[in-house]
Amino acid sequence: TETVGDILSAGLAAAPDTPFRVHSSVRPWSGTFRDVETVARRLAGGLRSRGVGPGDVVAFQLPNWMEAAATFWASAFLGAAVVPIVHFYGRKEVSYILEEVKPKVFITPERFGRLEYDLSASADVPVVGVIDRDFDDLLADEPMQDTSAVDPGAPALIAFTSGTTSNPKGVLHSHYSLVHETRQLAGWYPPDRGHQLTAAPVGHFIGMVNAFLIPVLDGTDINLTDVWDPGQVLRLMRSEDLTVGGGATYYMTSLLDHPDFTAAHLPSMRYAGLGGSSVPSAITTRLADLGITVFRSYGSTEHPSITGSNHDAPEAKRLHTDGRPLPGVEIILAEDGEILSRGPDLCMGYTDPELTARMFDDAGWYHTGDIGVLDADGYLKITDRKSDIIIRGGENISAMEVEEVLLGMPAVADAVVVAVPDARFGEHAAAVVRLHPGYDEPTLVDLRAHFAEIGLAKQKWPEEIHVVEDFPRTASGKIQKFRIRSDIASKHNRE
Ligand code: ATP
Repeated sequence: TETVGDILSAGLAAAPDTPFRVHSSVRPWSGTFRDVETVARRLAGGLRSRGVGPGDVVAFQLPNWMEAAATFWASAFLGAAVVPIVHFYGRKEVSYILEEVKPKVFITPERFGRLEYDLSASADVPVVGVIDRDFDDLLADEPMQDTSAVDPGAPALIAFTSGTTSNPKGVLHSHYSLVHETRQLAGWYPPDRGHQLTAAPVGHFIGMVNAFLIPVLDGTDINLTDVWDPGQVLRLMRSEDLTVGGGATYYMTSLLDHPDFTAAHLPSMRYAGLGGSSVPSAITTRLADLGITVFRSYGSTEHPSITGSNHDAPEAKRLHTDGRPLPGVEIILAEDGEILSRGPDLCMGYTDPELTARMFDDAGWYHTGDIGVLDADGYLKITDRKSDIIIRGGENISAMEVEEVLLGMPAVADAVVVAVPDARFGEHAAAVVRLHPGYDEPTLVDLRAHFAEIGLAKQKWPEEIHVVEDFPRTASGKIQKFRIRSDIASKHNRE
């Protein structure tokens, strides 16, 4: 029965003096929840006088700044659906998203070059600046004190997926699913978790929920950074005594691999949440050796918290599985191992009704496209993504399994395995790796020696190896395999 505006109003009133900080060289900010709420309520008043209300859509493209929180909270108070857009998306992505959601207002900084956007298809979208005086123009003198009454089943958020496999999909979350998700996660984190850092972009579900919602519910201070700079994060951990960080595995590996990293750099960090992409055991074991409690989880923009590993779960389960379904969530495995899920935090569907019809069945199951196994205690382990499986001579090869073995080679910092067309077998596996500094490029002979030592079936061994500086990634740090696949394919075509 609650709306996002209701839970925010209650949380902000309960802990108004909680610090809110933006660590940024462009737009640093320091204040309290009350200060940001005042801006948000003045913005809500200003937008209301411009005709924005329940049922409308407010889009914003902002880095992890105070104004992003103010816009998010203002939309919730107004009962409007909010659309966060990743701050470094360019004209192409932004035009696509605006066309999908047709916002009544779009808030973005002047310096992002508002006129560059192709708004011809959405010509009635007012574009306003944030850094310049336009943003202040939007603020009413008097903060809007009330919260609009809206149907909890109405859309509260349209979040776009990472675009790992295709164009980002616009996912509709109702107040009901978003409130449930927020409460679920706020209860899931340890109560004494201390200071939290959100470096993941607020344009993604995970950044948004960690930056704007969970801390308000449990009165945890908010620390945001607007660029991903592992060196800066290591410094902040010390100066701000940050205890919790979370995000795609990439964030953690780039911290641990940073030249400034020493075990002494993480004196305050006690908890690490990992998920969003495969989590190699080598990393969870390394974190555990540093005395950090690891929470692995599995979810998606559509169904944000399918599973999670609780802090009281056995260490082996926390480190080597993706956790158990969270309360209220149901999981079943289809015959081919695909995970189907449903539960109270499942989205309403997509902006594209055809996609909704394809991904959800009549019984309300969401077809995740991920493959997994459940152990006897009900802990899930993601073994692959349906689209990443390599089928060689009729034999299914799990890309994730081969990637884990590649990561065991001392030279290999990051590994991706993709299918390559093969005249004889249909497909074979190709390894694409990023190396630790100072190592020679491994050859196919080195790779074979390593796989033989591990004892993995020969059919699964990669039949080619490519070394890259880095991988094409989504804004949330996930590797875009579809791009790598097409890069390798065009390399083959050239040969
Ligand atoms: P798109 O749907 O646009 O291709 P995406 O699926 O990456 O992008 P997200 O919603 O950000 O969009 O990510 C959800 C996906 O991330 C899951 O379906 C799964 O494939 C992957 N994922 C999430 N958690 C894990 C995990 N613990 N282990 C392995 N993969 C995971």
